[in-house]
Amino acid sequence: VFDCRQVLVELSNYLDDEVAGRLRAELEEHLAECHTCRVLVDSTRKTVQIVTECRSFELPGNLSARVMQRIRALDRESKP
Ligand SMILES: [Zn+2]
Repeated sequence: VFDCRQVLVELSNYLDDEVAGRLRAELEEHLAECHTCRVLVDSTRKTVQIVTECRSFELPGNLSARVMQRIRALDRESKP
């Protein structure tokens, strides 16, 4: 069963459509129940779209790492 940590681990793969089968089903099951992760996925997807549109000819190789940093920052902000 997915928890929020595992969503964070798989998030960049999920947004790249690289999570398939049972893993994807479990992830989406968690998203259906977890508002925090839905917001996270939505905002991250938008961020990735903006970056992709602005730099469609020059995608930084470390995009995933930067996205993950941003997510971890958001995660920290959401903690009390
Ligand atoms: Zn969650």
